[in-house]
Amino acid sequence: MRYIFELVRKNLIMKKIGVAIVGGGPAGLQAAITLANKGIKPILFEEHSTIGEPIQCGEGLSVHAFKDFNLPKGEKSFCVKELDTCHLMFPENKTILGDIRATMIHRDKFDQYLSKKAIDLGAEIFTATKVTNLQRKTDGVEIKAKGESNSKYFAKLVILAEGPNVQLAKTLGFQTPSPMIKAFEYKVRGEWSDKLEFHFDSKKFPFGYSWVFPREGETNVGIVTTTKDRKQRLDNFLKKKGITGRILKKIGGQIPMHGPLKKLYHNRVLLVGDTAGMVNPIFYGGIRMAMTSGRIAGNTVVDILKTETDQASFNLKIYEEKLRQFKFMKRINFQCHRFFYTRSNKFLTKLGEVFDSKYINQIEGTEILKTLGKILLRPSLLTNPIGLYWLYRGFKVARDWGF
Ligand SMILES: Cc1cc2nc3c(=O)[nH]c(=O)nc-3n(C[C@H](O)[C@H](O)[C@H](O)COP(=O)(O)OP(=O)(O)OC[C@H]3O[C@@H](n4cnc5c(N)ncnc54)[C@H](O)[C@@H]3O)c2cc1C
Repeated sequence: MRYIFELVRKNLIMKKIGVAIVGGGPAGLQAAITLANKGIKPILFEEHSTIGEPIQCGEGLSVHAFKDFNLPKGEKSFCVKELDTCHLMFPENKTILGDIRATMIHRDKFDQYLSKKAIDLGAEIFTATKVTNLQRKTDGVEIKAKGESNSKYFAKLVILAEGPNVQLAKTLGFQTPSPMIKAFEYKVRGEWSDKLEFHFDSKKFPFGYSWVFPREGETNVGIVTTTKDRKQRLDNFLKKKGITGRILKKIGGQIPMHGPLKKLYHNRVLLVGDTAGMVNPIFYGGIRMAMTSGRIAGNTVVDILKTETDQASFNLKIYEEKLRQFKFMKRINFQCHRFFYTRSNKFLTKLGEVFDSKYINQIEGTEILKTLGKILLRPSLLTNPIGLYWLYRGFKVARDWGF
């Protein structure tokens, strides 16, 4: 009797679906594109009424993402301009060059571009619909969603892409991506630079930096740091830089600080994007990693649903195994973060002297020996040689993966 009741409940009250995605940011949307492209049409739930809004982003997208995801270069709807020069500014006006290239985008339009692509391929996207509860059952996941009409769904698999404000993952017993670091940004009228700028200073921006990302007729100027007085510090930075343009918009948000979580799946649920801590812990950028994890989650689900017959125990481990092959998943990035952000300004200045006007992430062959020579002349840099190695490797990952 109980079995019959369960069956009726699932089929009549709950809508049965194959794959549900929670969250319409780059991670969830890329998962939807991947699934729909391979014939599995997911339902994606997004709590906001417009995809991409509100913007919580510096809007720099690694140029590598265009190739990875076959994005149209120069697409007018979301591309603003490409920046191929990057300055890493260290204390005492030392400027290190970074081989880091990015396209400035309209982040809202970019997410909307991904969403249109997913819909065109057959994904269903429910906006203004917040998933309020996920409950795992032996043969699937019950989903409660609150929106224009309150609904219940029953999915075989769920891809959880709820971003950094992790709520559902917590209720399912997942580790959450903590600690978080907070970012605050002004969109300022006028172009206040012609390159990407990252300003490092362990006193002014502990565990983070200030950035200047020029756009067309405006500039995104922001700060990411662990201190609470971010606004004050950003105002001081603007003053020091002589940036006097009118503030057009203020935005803020939080970012996972320590990189990817250890466990990225459990029993019919896969974590992607910020929810899984997929952020570069050195520069705190995450769009490309979010999309990469979304794509791999999508591909894993396609393979599973097409090949596995035992519906009670899907082998989701493959998702984690495939993802861990990427450089941005390596622990060395976190080690680089820990080393770099605990150095004093004195150390950063010395490092600035070694690499002044040189690329920090393009040192190969004989340049390595020359650089080692310069380091040897500055013994205070040598207190932790392993840390220097982490720094070298971590910045190389940033070159290959973007910020
Ligand atoms: C100020 C700031 C600046 C940044 N600048 C950059 C940058 O320049 N370049 C870069 O690469 N990265 C940047 N990042 C990081 C980047 O924005 C994130 O890594 C990226 O957005 C992660 O994508 P995501 O899809 O995982 O999460 P999100 O983009 O956060 O998307 C999650 C979505 O899920 C929705 N959602 C959450 N809970 C529910 C629910 N229960 N039901 C339905 N929907 C739900 C949310 O509304 C949201 O739309 C920045 C972050 C911040 C805060």
